[in-house]
Parts: sequence; structure tokens; C-alpha cells
Amino acid sequence: MSSAATPGGIVYLVGAGPGDPGLITVRGRQLLEGCDAIVFDALANPLLVPTGPERHDVGKRGGSSESARQNEINRLLVSLARSGKRVVRLKGGDPFVFGRGSEEAQALATAGIRFEVVPGVTAGIAALAYAGIPVTHRGIATTVTFVTGHEDPAKPETQIDWAALARVGSTGTLVLYMGLRTLPSTALALIQSGLPADFPAAAVELGTHPNQRTVVATISTIAERVKAEGLVAPAITVIGRVVDLRDEIAWFESRPLFGKRILVTRATAAAGTLAAQLRELGADAIEAPSTVIEALDAAPLDRGIARLALFDWLVLTSPTAVRFFREGLERAGLDARSLAALKIAVIGPATAAALGEGGLRADIVPERFVAESLLDAFRRESSIQGSRVLYAMAGDARTVLPEGLRELGATVDTIAMYRSRLVTGGRQVDGLRSAIDADLVDLVTFASASAVAGFVAQVGVERASRVKAVSIGPVTTDAARVAGIEVVREATEATISALLEAAKRALQSETVRPA
Ligand code: SAH
Repeated sequence: MSSAATPGGIVYLVGAGPGDPGLITVRGRQLLEGCDAIVFDALANPLLVPTGPERHDVGKRGGSSESARQNEINRLLVSLARSGKRVVRLKGGDPFVFGRGSEEAQALATAGIRFEVVPGVTAGIAALAYAGIPVTHRGIATTVTFVTGHEDPAKPETQIDWAALARVGSTGTLVLYMGLRTLPSTALALIQSGLPADFPAAAVELGTHPNQRTVVATISTIAERVKAEGLVAPAITVIGRVVDLRDEIAWFESRPLFGKRILVTRATAAAGTLAAQLRELGADAIEAPSTVIEALDAAPLDRGIARLALFDWLVLTSPTAVRFFREGLERAGLDARSLAALKIAVIGPATAAALGEGGLRADIVPERFVAESLLDAFRRESSIQGSRVLYAMAGDARTVLPEGLRELGATVDTIAMYRSRLVTGGRQVDGLRSAIDADLVDLVTFASASAVAGFVAQVGVERASRVKAVSIGPVTTDAARVAGIEVVREATEATISALLEAAKRALQSETVRPA
């Protein structure tokens, strides 16, 4: 290869998988994390595209013809690599299955650019698997054929041998990519070429996404059923006896919360856990944090860290506080060893776990996860009288803790490291509002009264009054009811798993309620 002028430049043609962000390969994910630029299009799940590297969305460029667009993409890849960048070209499914990845590889080869291909999970296998349709099955289908539906069989110049397809299709599986528009004439051509009219067929829209839809029919009725159900691209069509296996092995669409859209408010690690658990039950969990974390001036923290030796106790009351404090240590060129002489108190298991990630163990983790409980724990420490405490915290933290510690005879230095700021505008908030307007939200979860306040600030009182919610406890429930939000269930205790249980029950009782 003749890319001597750009030793570092390389393009990775990476398959993103069909939609479920878990279906990218390990290699693909590593490359995404370490690249300088990403070139992606509409089929690659935006959740997979990290915000760090330079991003090029080549998905929506209306106007120009497809080949002009492809040339533009090729030129972009070449020029990014020539400037020495490590480029990920992220493509839906597998880059070499009807994805023009091979054309991009040709262009790169011609230009003398180094490239690698990272295969992906193709929709023709994965979307069907998520619909409970295997592409092969012993005794039922011994071949599988991937066909592009781009070619209209009604056109005389078609390159596809429909008679041959009908022949292999009768003992195998035919998978049609991009074929919704041409489905009526494709089905007809296959019947005319010998496939029985009652041969099983199915179409899967947005396969592997939380809102996947599947339509099952026969080859003679599939086109009209797809039209009646309003299926749109991306959708994949399968023709073959394997479709019948769906009755037995459909698993994705039959999970308890499949198809339910749930807003998970509040920007915390706990919200991430809740969303992940809801997704495992099949829900379309949307993380809708009403606040973002903002760093405050780092100088006070840096000064505090320079005087660490003066303190007896370090108090950190959230995983975010642990993160900011650790960053402060790093800025000072220090690590955990500089805390060797300090005792550390945290407010709950999540903070203790965040500390543990850095190899540190908390000396105090109170029984209940509130400031008052931490104070009780300090009260039992005889050495607290006369000791010096460094409390590195959120700028908007309550004053209960420092005041209580001072009453116990400690000297307390408080350092505000960050604060949370309400998000009241932007794309995410717009999306939230229109989802409520379109009646697409089945449930909202609230894990604190401030999350209620944030949500109402985001969507407005009128929209808030239209959602159903579950809450983590009585204080949060009151806040929601005062705001006019219907709380259909409350968690039996103030934990994320109890909140999950409440969400599950709320939605399941809804399913069995007579219409
Ligand atoms: N390279 C891709 C295919 C690109 S062609 C792959 O390997 O999957 C685009 C077509 O792929 C769409 O028209 C549709 O037929 C199919 N497709 C892609 N993603 C899909 C999905 N999530 N569900 C159903 N079909 C999908």
C-alpha cells in the first residue's frame, strides 16, 4: 500500500449490527472507543456513536443521487485517513451484506489507504432471530438465500433468477432485504415460479429494536398484510417454512414489558441500572435525566487536596463526588496513597462501590442512605470530637451534615465541586414533549421529589398531568400528586429494585385490565 505519507491513517469498516446496541462485536466497540473520527449513517444505532470523536452523519443528505452520495462518502473516508486519522466507518448490520461496504473498500484500495473490515451481525439473521424465526432448521430449511428486493421483478432488466429462487426457496429460506416496495411483485413472481401460495412468510420491522414489529402471513397475503399494518423500512421479509417455528420460539416480543415505553428520570448511576433492568424485561426504557452535572471552579478542591495532610476525615456523599475528587487527585499528580492517613465516610453502597473501583474502602457506610443516618454513625465515633473533616460535595448539597458535624465538635471544611443544573430545553426535552403529546409514554419513574420537579419543569404542568407514574416512596409520591401527576404505584421500599417491581406491576396490571 502506498500510504507512506500518512502512517497513522486507517479506515475500519465496522458492522454496527441491526439495532440492539448489544449486538456490535467486541472488536467494533473497541475501535469506536479509540478512533479519531466516525462516519455513520441512518441504520447504525445512534446510541453506539460516542460523542468524543469527530462525527460525520452521512445518513440524511437528501437531494443528491445515491451514487453521488456514495462518491462523497468515499472521498470523505479517503481524506480523513490521509490526514492521519483512525476512522471508523460504521454501517448497519454487516458492512458487506447489501451495505456498499465493499465499494468503500474498493475506493480505499484504489486510493492506497489502509483499511480493515470488522464484520457485523446482519439484519437478515438477527431481526429474524429476534422474531423467533431461525434462518435454518434441521429437516425444515437446509439453505438460506439473501436476496435484495431492490430489483423489481416486473422490470425486464432484473438480474435475479426468480425461477431458481423459487426452487431453492421451496426447501430453504429466502430473506429479502430492502424489499417492502417491491414486495407485491416479488411475491407474485415467486408464486408464478412455483412456490405454493400458502407458503409461510413474515416481515419484521425495526428488528432487534425495542419497538420491533412482526407480521406473519403467507406469500400470497404478505404484501397486503404489510400494507395494512403500515410497516415501513427498515424491514426484512422472510419466506419459508421456518416462519412456522415462531409460534414456539418467539421470545423477544413475548417478554413481560415488551413494547412499553418508560421514561426513567434523574441522571444518576442508579437511573442507568433501572433503565437496563427495564430493558431486560423488554421495555423501551428512555433515560430522561432532568438535570446534568456541571463542574464548578476546581481551584478550591485543588487547594483542599494540597492540604490533605491536615485532615482526619474525608466525606464523599455520591458517586459523582468520588469521581470529581479522584480527578482532583489526578490533577495534583496524586493517587489513593495520598489518602492513607485519612478515614473515609460515604453515604450509601453506590458511593462505597465507586470508591471501591479506585481500590479504596469506606470506613463508614451508614445504614440508611441519608445525611441524618451518616451523622448517627459519626456520633458513635468517639474520635470525631476535635477532628478535622474535609467534605467534598455538590454545590447544592443540604447543610445537615456539616452543621451536625460541627455540633459534634469537628472542624469542617466544605468544598463544592459540582452542581446539577436543570435541563429545560434541547433535543432531548423536545423529544420528551412530543412523545407525551403523541401518547407514546406508558409510564414515568420518579426516584426523588427533585426528579418530579425537574420533569414538570421540562414538560410543563399540562403534559405532566397526562402521564402515569411510579414513585420510590411517600415523599416523592406527594410531590408528584401535588404536581397533578397520577401515581399508580409506590415502591414498597426506597430502592431501585423495589421501584422496578412497582413499574412491572403497574404495567402488567394495565395489560390485563379489560379495554
Ligand atoms: N448491511 C445491512 C443491510 C443494509 S440494506 C445488514 O447487514 O443488515 C438495508 C436493509 O436491511 C433494510 O432495507 C432492511 O431490509 C434491512 N434491515 C437493516 N436493519 C434492519 C432491522 N433492524 N430490521 C429489519 N430490517 C433491517
